[in-house]
Amino acid sequence: MGIRTTNGRGQVYHSILDTVGDTPVIRINRIAPDHVNVFVKFEAFNPAGSVKDRLAINIIEAAEREGRLKPGQTVVEATSGNTGIGLAMVCAAKGYPLVITMADSFSVERRRLMRFFGAKVVLTPRALKGFGMYTKAKELAEQNGWFLASQFETADNADIHQNTTAREILADFGDDPLDYFVTGYGTGGTVSGVGRVLRQERPDTKIILTEPTNAAIVASGYVNTRNETNQPTESHPAFQPHPIQGWTPDFVPFVLQEALDNKYYDELIPVEGPQGIAWSKRLAAEEGIFTGISGGSSFAIAMKIAETAPKGANILVMLPDTGERYLSTPLFEDVPEEMTEEEIAISRSSPTAQMDG
Ligand code: PMP
Repeated sequence: MGIRTTNGRGQVYHSILDTVGDTPVIRINRIAPDHVNVFVKFEAFNPAGSVKDRLAINIIEAAEREGRLKPGQTVVEATSGNTGIGLAMVCAAKGYPLVITMADSFSVERRRLMRFFGAKVVLTPRALKGFGMYTKAKELAEQNGWFLASQFETADNADIHQNTTAREILADFGDDPLDYFVTGYGTGGTVSGVGRVLRQERPDTKIILTEPTNAAIVASGYVNTRNETNQPTESHPAFQPHPIQGWTPDFVPFVLQEALDNKYYDELIPVEGPQGIAWSKRLAAEEGIFTGISGGSSFAIAMKIAETAPKGANILVMLPDTGERYLSTPLFEDVPEEMTEEEIAISRSSPTAQMDG
């Protein structure tokens, strides 16, 4: 292996916002079976660390273009975190005040991150689930004349994945086949936007959709009611709290409905949260790829697909965010703070600076 050098990007950026997207597709070298090629699209490379930076910038800039968002107007949104962090980054860079509503069950570092970016975070009781934080954001927008970002309903969500995420995938695979694309859903923006393009331009690619086993709301076949602006008006009966933050809210979002109506997926495979956690750990410890629970969960399903995939198949897995967002969650539950027996033994194998004198 030669000495590594770099060449720069050949440009300076006018704003942090110009660095959103163009995330790398990376080969998995150690933990995938040998008969297939597994790749991940690693969204942690976005400036605020997740796939939702794409949606955040598009929601704000589409609303600016169309005059729906006025200079200095407050933006409000309900979010489990990554959309809020993305919006906080975009609003900070553009100078809009931001209020986020969020159930108090989501990880504390997410709240603090948004506040660090200058946003206000209004917590809602976890007993009211996603629907509670959602109703709160809607009410706040109505009462105060704020701009509701509406990530679950807006066309700006899937559009940005059609125009960026999907284009990047096509460009990066070039003339190589892409046999499987594996993703979960939160709003459904990723699967609806990428699905549009793959169905048109890569009809041979099998799209594999996944959702938590204990919140299998798509598999249930029941679609919750929605109002005239496509917002959900009830919590989905098949929903139960699950550990895969950012996935499967307690309703079928309108943005996701497009993927369901047009069958933008070939298989729907449920995943157990602990499986996702286990694969997220292996991605970090054996590949050096540090992603959250949703990335690990899609990866778990990719490993299942790999079992029966033909020799030489190319499998692409979405990894939506960075694992750093999960330090206080079950992902890190059994990662010790104190030295383990093994670490103490290592320390004792040389004479100086031992903790126990
Ligand atoms: N994983 C994480 C961690 C997320 O925050 C999100 C977005 N809520 C997703 C996956 C799902 O992406 P999408 O909203 O495009 O379906």
